[in-house]
Amino acid sequence: MGFSRSEGVPDLERLATLVRDRGPAVVLTGAGISTESGIPDFRSPTGIWAQYDPEEYATIEAFRADPVKVWRFYALRFRALTEAEPNPGHLALAELERGGHVRAVVTQNIDLLHERAGSRDVVEVHGSIRTSSCLGCGARYGLGEVLPLVEAAGAPRCAACGEVLKPDVVFFGELLPGAAIDRAYELARSTGVLLVVGSQLEVWPVSLLPEETVQGGGQVAIVNRGPTSFDDRAAVRVEGSAGETLTALVDELAGS
Ligand SMILES: [Zn+2]
Repeated sequence: MGFSRSEGVPDLERLATLVRDRGPAVVLTGAGISTESGIPDFRSPTGIWAQYDPEEYATIEAFRADPVKVWRFYALRFRALTEAEPNPGHLALAELERGGHVRAVVTQNIDLLHERAGSRDVVEVHGSIRTSSCLGCGARYGLGEVLPLVEAAGAPRCAACGEVLKPDVVFFGELLPGAAIDRAYELARSTGVLLVVGSQLEVWPVSLLPEETVQGGGQVAIVNRGPTSFDDRAAVRVEGSAGETLTALVDELAGS
């Protein structure tokens, strides 16, 4: 964990002060929190993304052209995501919400790990694997219904009309879910502190949310490994893992 050279106060202490004084925080999480659960980020070609090019498997054009091929990839992905467990970073955010220090979590992740860790207010701006929808009649199927179909067939089909289902995750080239985006903007604009965790803030819409917070009079704190696009303007920046940092933040806030 780094220390602020300019003021001599440890970054974590400054983060705790910010959340205490300006919270409850709105939290914005990216792939970096889930990599600590063993879920690879598509931007780093490791794990599943070493073998599957996102261009070929994560665009809506690819899905429309060959849903069976894309579903074969999603069968592996669904299995990996459902077998992953929430890590200390997810658990700490749920704890902070219970303690009144976190208002909501806005996430780019589709893996449901925030919910499984106990977070109650989660805004999924890229959708999730919770449901899949029929491209024909719009019928929606839960993960528990889709998983056996995925394991059994090339592409799961609608029981009502026979059309192919599509996971309710946002593919590249698709519109983002409007209600979730609107809520994310409203939360970012109205919060006293936006806590960014495990995101480089490069992908829209999350790339623009810190600006919303600053425009609304709030401050931005960042917990990430490596630089982000908003480092220069963040009130606090902690270089470190989500799990270690957020666990320490829980302790710091509990001790105050
Ligand atoms: Zn249907």
